[in-house]
Amino acid sequence: MSRYTGAVCRQCRREGEKLYLKGDRCYTNKCAVDRRSYPPGQHGQGRKKQSEYGNQLRMKQRLRRIYGVTERRLESYYDDATRKRGITGEILVQLLESRLDNVVYRLGIGASRAQARQLIMHGHFVVNGQKVDIPSYLIKPTDVIAVRESSRNVKVIKENVENASGRTTPEWLEFNADKLEGQVKVLPSREQVDIPVEEHLIVEFYSR
Ligand code: SF4
Repeated sequence: MSRYTGAVCRQCRREGEKLYLKGDRCYTNKCAVDRRSYPPGQHGQGRKKQSEYGNQLRMKQRLRRIYGVTERRLESYYDDATRKRGITGEILVQLLESRLDNVVYRLGIGASRAQARQLIMHGHFVVNGQKVDIPSYLIKPTDVIAVRESSRNVKVIKENVENASGRTTPEWLEFNADKLEGQVKVLPSREQVDIPVEEHLIVEFYSR
């Protein structure tokens, strides 16, 4: 299934949670979840309690929407997570957090993951000194992610870093705003990832 191209805020309303998909707007009183905290559509306010399967499905969709990945890509991350040692759900979240587009967003260089993805595809970043224009590129501990020298004056990047929307750099990352450069100290543990997701439901969904 291809990437969702409809109204972005609708996805948050469907999940009943702020998923922070739109950058600065998410931190203002224009947020659609704050204004209409019920699912979109004609029957949005009358929906009944969900089945177990419905809960699992919703949680899987929520995770997919937060990181902006396709069904197929999420499935492949899940397969990778099952092959690694540890708790599958937590490894799945860690894999998604390791995506370059997520790291650029977490560093505050991108206002949202979608915008970070676009900036990466436009070739504005280097990882360990090498140009990388693949948003799904997986970073590793000690990797250094920087804005390319020739992109340091890109207006949107400068604006994002200047007002970073009240976000703080997560403790597993380090950011130098003067150099427009970040480093991965370690890969994040589940407690260090602030997403409204119960990953065990997603594991149950895929294990059916
Ligand atoms: Fe829209 Fe952001 Fe609010 Fe989600 S959190 S409804 S994307 S403004």
